Amino acid sequence: MIDLLSLLPEEIETLLAEAGEPRYRAKQIFDWCRRGVPFSEMSNLPVSLREYLTERCEWRLPTVEEKQVSRLDGTVKYLFRLLDGNCVESVLMHYAHGSTLCISSEVGCPMGCKFCASTIGGKVRNLLPSEMLGQIIAAAKDAGERIDGVVMMGIGEPLDNYENVIKFLKLVGHPDGVNIGYRHISLSTCGIVPRIYDLAEEDFPITLSVSLHAATDEARSQIMPINKVYPIQALLTACADYYAKTGRRISFEYTLIAGQNDRPEDADMLARTLRGALGKIPIHVNLIRVNEVKETGFRHGSRESADAFARRLSERGINATVRRRLGADIDAACGQLRKKHTEQEKREES
Ligand code: SAH
Repeated sequence: MIDLLSLLPEEIETLLAEAGEPRYRAKQIFDWCRRGVPFSEMSNLPVSLREYLTERCEWRLPTVEEKQVSRLDGTVKYLFRLLDGNCVESVLMHYAHGSTLCISSEVGCPMGCKFCASTIGGKVRNLLPSEMLGQIIAAAKDAGERIDGVVMMGIGEPLDNYENVIKFLKLVGHPDGVNIGYRHISLSTCGIVPRIYDLAEEDFPITLSVSLHAATDEARSQIMPINKVYPIQALLTACADYYAKTGRRISFEYTLIAGQNDRPEDADMLARTLRGALGKIPIHVNLIRVNEVKETGFRHGSRESADAFARRLSERGINATVRRRLGADIDAACGQLRKKHTEQEKREES
């Protein structure tokens, strides 16, 4: 079966040529896809073509399995069900400049970061381009609003699913598709260094967001196993290359864990490490008080200590902001909702 939502217009044209249909129908089909309308309802297509598509193609638009809306700020957490029954999460956040969807890139995650709920059960499989794009289409349809930006910060490691992520990026920025500007797209990675070099060679001016979380190899290796393969200096050298090729400011994620990486001397070390490796390259540090996941035992410190950490970085010439906690009353931390749901299904089966 052909995965229709993973196809670019020119690929749909090839499919149509095989069916003996005119090329202009590709644009019509791509437009229906963008709006999440299944084959049978593509009303400007001849019935015979709709039947042809139904026979030859599969429709991988995720369906809403569960939805939580924050009473505090309107943040919506979706649990989406995929065609094979697996579930992934997306989070719709509303900002003054528009709405941003945080999407998943894999079912589960193989990277093993110690504080993260998504990795607890390991990786199940890669998401297809259609399933990444489908989260955006399905959320926009359900919420009845346009999605202006995308962050790839949900379940999974995007650079571990490289080919599908690249195809997804081609689809999501296509002017005839959902058409989200690359400047409004961030890709977050735990630091798979060779793939950062590869991404820099592609033609997408997206923001690279790097999950750093510690300023020394010793501390980082304890919470992020990937650091044993690609240590901090190698990672920051790849970031410098990304900036040189794309001209895009690099964003760093730093999760504050009480008593572990949130002391004043940690801020000093972080500033020294970043400036030492990156010099004057424009960077931004996002500080996130760790979301407490019961299995991990990590605790977050106070808002005041996070603010003090940010100030200390700023005084040392590093732009830093404490990330607002959206959806604090729902299971908005990466992987929490899927995990709860999987456990529930297992209980029901046994
Ligand atoms: N695999 C990618 C993207 C998914 S995780 C990556 O590692 O960047 C998205 C972000 O959420 C990462 O910065 C990750 O380190 C962070 N994160 C994961 N669990 C968290 C938690 N419990 N509290 C705060 N941030 C968390």
